[in-house]
Amino acid sequence: MARRPQAIEIFGETIAASERKTFNIPIGQLYTHTDIAIPVQVINGKSGGPVLLICAAIHGDELNGIEVIRRVLAAPWLKNLRGTLIAVPMVNVLGIIQRSRYLPDRRDLNRCFPGSEKGSLGGRIANLFVTEILTKCQYAIDLHTGAVNRSNMPQIRVHLENAAAADLAQAFGTPLVIDAPIRDGSLRGAGDDLGIPIITYEAGEALRFDEPAIRVGVKGVRNVMIHLGMLPARRVQKPLPQSFVAKSSSWVRAPADGLFRSSLTLGDRVTRGDVLGIIDGPLGNSEIPVQAPYGGIVIGNTRLPLVNEGEALLHLARFDDMDDVETVVDEFRQEFESNGY
Ligand SMILES: [Zn+2]
Repeated sequence: MARRPQAIEIFGETIAASERKTFNIPIGQLYTHTDIAIPVQVINGKSGGPVLLICAAIHGDELNGIEVIRRVLAAPWLKNLRGTLIAVPMVNVLGIIQRSRYLPDRRDLNRCFPGSEKGSLGGRIANLFVTEILTKCQYAIDLHTGAVNRSNMPQIRVHLENAAAADLAQAFGTPLVIDAPIRDGSLRGAGDDLGIPIITYEAGEALRFDEPAIRVGVKGVRNVMIHLGMLPARRVQKPLPQSFVAKSSSWVRAPADGLFRSSLTLGDRVTRGDVLGIIDGPLGNSEIPVQAPYGGIVIGNTRLPLVNEGEALLHLARFDDMDDVETVVDEFRQEFESNGY
């Protein structure tokens, strides 16, 4: 039986059942006296159900999540929503203006949670976000990308000890899950303290739109909503890909300075001793092969060929059942990359 829908109140705005509302949460002014605010959209379903937050760009240069949320908000399937969806596509608006991961004072907003009313700029924004948004939710999906010039294979990061969060990770439907313990000051940490399970979706690179990463993100949000009973199941429900938890992962670093070339792409499997790529100088004749120190799946890579010794080149994740992971990852890549851009 459908639960009775409930109105929800956020920052003085009441969103009634069946209502869709867009509003701003003011966070102050720029020193130019321009008002600055975090845009929010709340969609309240016709019948009651869970309250889910989807948010993006806590790191201001991570854009894929903004596009994921835009597409979710435009999706025709939202008309069947049960419960409430709260969408915050640009949490770090100040970072976005500067096209930067950080706040103007160079703090990382994802290290400022839960924040405080009297704290630094980041602490105040974090505190406002927690009090006005996070505490109104029961579940959250936080959308991220790799750093500048570094791309991530679509993956979910979650602290697997949190069973409710692990359940969301499974429901999202990416083959790769990385067990990531809670970091102090992160939104996930704030969620943990409040008993709100949060998963982090990582895909693509900063300052770019990556079409497969966006599509996987939209599908993952929908999968979680179906799993939570916020949407009816699809008529033809393809089984989710099996999820594999990496045993460990680390970056292979440049053994020398130069130009790095590699034919590997995200999701490729390598075995120990494979040549992952070559570092050479501009005039050639100084080729240095970069070898795989262990076997694994490429889950992240540099997109910039200019490298100094020690720089991160390829992120390799190790799994127990490499053959199975390889098969599932290959099918997953085909599904999301076959339609082109
Ligand atoms: Zn991030």
